[in-house]
Amino acid sequence: MKSIHLESKLPNVSTTIFTVMSKMAAAHNAINLSQGFPNFESDPVLVELVSKAMRDGHNQYAPMQGDLALREAIAAKIVSLYGRSYNPASEITVTAGATQAIFTAIAATIHPKDEVIIFAPAYDCYEPAIELFGGVAIPVQLKAPLYKPDWEEVEAKINVRTKMIIINSPHNPSGMLFTKEDMLQLQSLAEQHNLLVISDEVYEHIIFDGAKHQSAALFDSLSTRTYITASFGKTFHNTGWKMGYCVAPSALMKEFQNVHQYNVFSVNNPIQKAFAQYLKNPDNYLNLGSLYQEKRNLFLDLLKDSRFKIVPSHGTYFQLLDFSKISEEKDTAFAERLTKELGIATIPTSVFNENQEDFKQIRVCFAKTTETLEAAAAILNKI
Ligand code: PMP
Ligand code: GLN
Repeated sequence: MKSIHLESKLPNVSTTIFTVMSKMAAAHNAINLSQGFPNFESDPVLVELVSKAMRDGHNQYAPMQGDLALREAIAAKIVSLYGRSYNPASEITVTAGATQAIFTAIAATIHPKDEVIIFAPAYDCYEPAIELFGGVAIPVQLKAPLYKPDWEEVEAKINVRTKMIIINSPHNPSGMLFTKEDMLQLQSLAEQHNLLVISDEVYEHIIFDGAKHQSAALFDSLSTRTYITASFGKTFHNTGWKMGYCVAPSALMKEFQNVHQYNVFSVNNPIQKAFAQYLKNPDNYLNLGSLYQEKRNLFLDLLKDSRFKIVPSHGTYFQLLDFSKISEEKDTAFAERLTKELGIATIPTSVFNENQEDFKQIRVCFAKTTETLEAAAAILNKI
């Protein structure tokens, strides 16, 4: 019998670091600060809204673009926060998490040989999606410890094949924020070179110390060429529900929905019904920054006598810890040793960098209960 030979479409891809480290954490019974998810529950009110929607019989397909009431609630949130109107009928799609929104935006727009500029360390779903559609990811490496974008370097990498720039602020893993000035630079380059943008804003509500989230929706010209992607999982403590959305001007959204309708068609109906209700109360997302700022502060206070060098995170629920004074190991080896020998799992950040550059920084997720943060800090302080 002949065995089938598959020519891999992603020959250079290995198992995502989030799976690797979470599995290692489980195998060694380690505290898991690696993969980014909260270890506390969603609001019981929200869980009850989902159950009610199921009991009320909302158990068949939702509309392709998403539940209309939810799209209206998303539009209302964006108007109130960023002053821009997206038409629920033609400019909003509810997706299976931000991952699907990002994948679909890339699938809808990237042709073979198109170049897409990404900022490294980059969230790991961007590059495989670009490659699958024949595009080429062009990294611009942000440098530790501050991870600030260098717009001259970005401009130097733009050429006639450049089709898109992907940004992510608040930035995973560094906790860096794009400033208004950064967004204006991006807007000007995108205009000048006629580029599309994906603005991955999954942490828009997790922002600290009074800073303001610089959504692409705030900028007139930028918003006309941008797919904004968002995640309910990050905002409402239910990453396992895999719900999110994408907003973009109608011409861009039309192409997005052309792909979405044959890839996913529509996403979980009862959960959409529940979010449509739950989003009506802005307290449900506006208090997120202060919740996580308290957790960051508690964690940093617990680590104040540790040997790690720490630049406080400005947003997201991640904190980088620089171990260069502790060990010369490669960050992947260091993270593996911490998990197996000391019982704490983290993410080595080199896997997100251009050529796996190692800044000796591991990422920890502080979306955890006080008990977990205390137990984790007790281990980290001994290193
Ligand atoms: N972008 C970034 C920067 C992320 O950290 C994540 C993980 N939440 C995603 C996208 C994907 O979000 P989701 O879990 O909603 O697919
Ligand atoms: N976004 C999460 C993180 O950065 C992980 C999501 C996933 O496991 N793919 O840790």
